[in-house]
Amino acid sequence: MKSIDIIVEPERVDRYKKGIKYSFPNCAAVILLRTDDDKNILVDTGGYGHQKRVVDGLRRKGLNPEDIHYVILTHSHFDHNANIYLFSRAQLIQERWLVSIADGKTIKYGRKEELPPIGAKGIRLIKTPGHTEDSISVLVRHKNKKYAIVGDAVKGSLIRAGLIKREYREF
Ligand SMILES: [Zn+2]
Repeated sequence: MKSIDIIVEPERVDRYKKGIKYSFPNCAAVILLRTDDDKNILVDTGGYGHQKRVVDGLRRKGLNPEDIHYVILTHSHFDHNANIYLFSRAQLIQERWLVSIADGKTIKYGRKEELPPIGAKGIRLIKTPGHTEDSISVLVRHKNKKYAIVGDAVKGSLIRAGLIKREYREF
């Protein structure tokens, strides 16, 4: 893997009602992977109203939305998938689905253990159901380290409580 970059940082919105704090997801992290075979891959696309942040984040890396070859959705919640429409030339990869965003041509992978193939080196997809039934995670190697991009599979509250280390864990 040539590079792993966070294009948009995740964001939550806190609201208070009768002294009780309610925290809502607003925008998931958007992560850009550039592979050794020159594929540009975006993991998740962020939430509603964040399209400018996504486009500006890509521009800072010298890319336009049309330069993205694959969009991998870790799962189909609104804070992860709202900006799919920006990536008109990409193949969309979800659990069991490979979709051409340009023309809607869709291949469904029916067997339970089967995931859509990704035509790029150094990336592996695994199913990580729990947060949602369709959750998948992305495993990549970069500079002799291994990374797992897990969407919402790991709760931030567990990290803050010290129950899970926010480090790069071996897999
Ligand atoms: Zn979610």
